[in-house]
Formats: sequence, structure tokens, C-alpha cells
Amino acid sequence: MNPGPPHHDIVIIGAGFGGLGMGMQLKRRGRDDFVILEQDTGVGGTWHANRYPGAACDIPSLLYSFSFAPSTRWTRNYPGQAEIEAYLNECVDRFDLLPHLHLRTRVCSLEWKADTQRWTIRALQRGVEMAWTARVVVNATGGLSRPAVPDIAGLADFKGTVMHTARWQAEVPLADRRIGVVGTGASAIQLVPQLVDKAARVSLFQRTPAWILPKRDRPVSPAMRTLYENVPGLRRLARALVYAVHEMRAPGFTRRPGILEMLEPLALRHLKRRVADPSLREALTPRYRMGCKRILIASDFYPAIQRRNARLVTSPIARVVADGVLTDDGMHHPLDVLVLATGFQAAEAMSPFPVRGRGGLELNEVWRQGAKAYLGTTVPGFPNLFMIVGPNTGLGHNSMVFMIESQLRYVMDALDRMQRAQLAAVDTKPEVADAFNAQLQARMKHTVWAKGGCTSWYQTRSGLITTLWPGSTLAYRWRTRRFRLDEHEALRA
Ligand SMILES: Cc1cc2nc3c(=O)[nH]c(=O)nc-3n(C[C@H](O)[C@H](O)[C@H](O)COP(=O)(O)OP(=O)(O)OC[C@H]3O[C@@H](n4cnc5c(N)ncnc54)[C@H](O)[C@@H]3O)c2cc1C
Repeated sequence: MNPGPPHHDIVIIGAGFGGLGMGMQLKRRGRDDFVILEQDTGVGGTWHANRYPGAACDIPSLLYSFSFAPSTRWTRNYPGQAEIEAYLNECVDRFDLLPHLHLRTRVCSLEWKADTQRWTIRALQRGVEMAWTARVVVNATGGLSRPAVPDIAGLADFKGTVMHTARWQAEVPLADRRIGVVGTGASAIQLVPQLVDKAARVSLFQRTPAWILPKRDRPVSPAMRTLYENVPGLRRLARALVYAVHEMRAPGFTRRPGILEMLEPLALRHLKRRVADPSLREALTPRYRMGCKRILIASDFYPAIQRRNARLVTSPIARVVADGVLTDDGMHHPLDVLVLATGFQAAEAMSPFPVRGRGGLELNEVWRQGAKAYLGTTVPGFPNLFMIVGPNTGLGHNSMVFMIESQLRYVMDALDRMQRAQLAAVDTKPEVADAFNAQLQARMKHTVWAKGGCTSWYQTRSGLITTLWPGSTLAYRWRTRRFRLDEHEALRA
């Protein structure tokens, strides 16, 4: 008799902060019957994929780590990619997640079977078709894990190397090369200062200048590290302070963009101090309200763009040709390497694979007008499917790890309550999700993202903001403190 695919109580998809955090929470509670499926060759998610020179976090390390798995080993105030990736690998060891991990396993589809009350998960593992069944699926595939490749005419004609920052090819030589960088978001401003030290020339193709505040980065001294290790209360206090300072900025994003306006002179002073040439300064001056797009922090970008081998190109790209880029002003920019620092497919957050719920309902169909979920976590019609960093759970002002922890607690509470009530499956009531999303979008109208005079990756093409949480992280923690069974329909086999 065919035994069928292997069954687990829980299947987690993705091994970034979300997926690993879920695994860690399950382990802490003695729940062992789960697997983590990850398409990449290692764990870390964002911090495994984004390996471009200079990749770093813009939230201090104390806060950009799990509160329930603190590290005392951070060497810098703002951690770099390698250090965060190492931290997440340490978490795998500390929580014994290795036996649960399936790397190089790309999930291709999810399907809910009403008769068995189970999900079937199909995947490609090193090219081989695999399947699992599970009572619960936790989808932690990340809000920023699918690179956005711009639709630039002639891109395929380029004879040099084209690479996205999230698919960095470390073997490509950069020394003495002519490098073009497309985009002026968070990745580009971290990358350019690293490139100007090596390359013969760096041309930065800018569409929209960003608001940039100075980055107060510094090493964490060995004495401080020892202190944090031996006095956990001090580390917790420092973390709470960093959290509070970031959280204070929330109203500026969500209710009173005027508050952020008060920070604009700070950024303009930074620009004025660092850039002497008035025409370059003019080109680097943002024309939208601060906060509408992600606020960047960097102290080395303005000096870098003024290096003799660097050039800011503001004329739009007309097309890519075999040996470089042509801009609308008729200039030809010869290049050996073209880097796409163009971010991710975020707002059009269609599921990366088909998900079939009750009655054959398809998630991408449900999300055709824009992704939405109840508390960013569950979608009516898709029982026992929980999302980590689902729709409208992103942030402009604080650590995503705080939001992820709120969701992890919420899912753990759901599992506990279902167990106590002896329920195999629950499905969010549509009226509960609808009321929540109507309220959320009404609040969104008052945010800087809606009122700030910009278009951004936070919005869909039709202008709907499907990525960000329009409130404080404390409010989100409060809303997710308890999984309310009365908001969900109990399903019986
Ligand atoms: C360059 C960059 C800088 C950032 N800086 C900050 C910052 O300073 N502060 C901050 O708070 N946040 C920052 N973020 C956001 C960051 O993504 C989150 O903080 C956090 O890492 C998200 O974790 P995650 O687990 O939800 O998603 P991810 O880390 O993206 O992990 C998702 C995982 O799912 C896997 N996956 C996707 N599809 C499949 C599939 N079909 N099958 C199997 N596996 C799949 C991916 O390979 C990935 O490993 C940054 C993001 C980027 C890209």
C-alpha cells in the first residue's frame, strides 16, 4: 500500500527570521513535529540572499534580534549582513533546528484537502518533486524575497555582467571595472561607498533622490559586550531604550506626517555639510515628504558620490546597449557591470506559488485587487494557514523582528487554543477580516505613505498600500496578544 507523503503537524516555509523564529518557538514549547522548507542553500532569508558589499541593517543589533534568543556578540551598533546571518545560524544550533531543515527545497504549491483537514505541500528538492502533508502551514516566505527586475529596454543586449543586489555574484571582479548602479534606495546607498574604493568608475542612475540621515554606527567595545553578557538586565534595558526611541517616530509615519517634516532640516543639513557643489546638492534633494519612502541612514554615501571616479546620472535611462547605458540626454555610459539595486516585488505581494484553499479558492485570485489578511496573518477560506510578515505588517520606523515576534506569539496562541478546544482546523470569519481591513485602509489615508507625495514599493500599481502597518508596533502587539477562537469558524472533518 502506498503510505502517501510524509506527514507533519506543522510545515514552515522559509528559513529567515520568520520561519526560524517559528521553529524556535515550537521547540521552546516542546512541539517537535515540524519541518522547515527553504529554497535557498542556507538559512537567514534576507541575510543569506543580500550579500552585496556593504549590506547592513539600519536598526541597531540590540533590537534586530529575537528577545527570547539574545546575542551578546554583536561587534557593531548596526550589524552587517554576515553578522546577522551568523546570528541566525547560531539560533539554528541553539534550538537544534538542523534536523527539521530541508534546504534547497522550493515549495511550488499548497492545497487544502477538506476530507482529511490537511494541507498538501508540493516542492522541488534539488530538482526532485517532493510532497508533504500537514495540519498547519506557516508561510514565512518574506515580504522582500523576490527581486524586482526593472523593465528597461535592451537589458538582455548587455554583454557585460548584470546582477541584482539580492543575487550578488561575488566572483565577478569589480577592481578597475566600470560599474553602473540602477536605483537610489537602501541597497544602492550601502553599495556605492564600497564600489568607489575598487572600481574604475561608478555611475549611479538616479530616478528619485532619497532622504538620508547620518548613520551613528560604531563598534561595540569588548568591555560593553562583557557587560551585556554578565548583566542581562542592562542589555534588556538598552534594548528597551532603543525600542522606545524608534517607536516614538511612529506617529510621524502613521498619523501626523508633520512630525517627520521636523526631521527634514536635519537631513538637509547633513546634505549641505557633506556636499559642497550646489548643483549636485540640488540633484540629491528629495522632492517628497520625508518618510513617504523608506528613510535611509548613511554617513558615507554623500562623500562616495563625490569621489573622482563616481558620477550621479539624473537623466532617465533610455535603454541598455551591448556596452553600456544610453540616457535620455543622448549620453552613452560605457559599462562592464550593471547592478540592479532595484529592490523587491513587495506590494504586488502575490503568493510566490499557487495556494488552493476551501472549495478550490485560489489565494492569488482572492488577492487580485491587493493582498490583505486578518492581522496580516490569516485569510478566510484558507484554514490553518498562518503567514509571518503577511500583508500590512511591514514597518517604516522600527525593527521587523518585533513584528515577527508578535506574529509568532499569535500563532503559538492559536495552536494552544485549538489544542485545548480540541479543534483540528479553524478558518477566519470573512466578516472579521473585512471589518479589520476596512478599518486598516481607513487609517492608511492619514499616513505619510499615502499623503507624502511619492510613489513607492509600499503601494500596488493602483495605489493601495498592502505592505505597511499603519500604527504603532505596540498596538500590533496588543491586537495579536490573543488568538480569539470566536473570530474563526471551527471546521470538523
Ligand atoms: C536589503 C534589506 C535590508 C533590510 N533591512 C532591514 C532593517 O534594517 N530593519 C528591518 O527591520 N528590516 C529590514 N529588512 C526587512 C527584512 O526582510 C526583515 O527584517 C526580515 O529579515 C524578514 O524575515 P522573513 O523571515 O519574514 O523573510 P526573509 O528573510 O525574506 O525569509 C524568507 C525566506 O523564504 C524563502 N522562500 C521564499 N519562497 C520560497 C519557496 N517557494 N519555497 C521555499 N522557501 C521560500 C526565501 O528563500 C527566504 O529564505 C531588510 C530587507 C532587505 C532585503
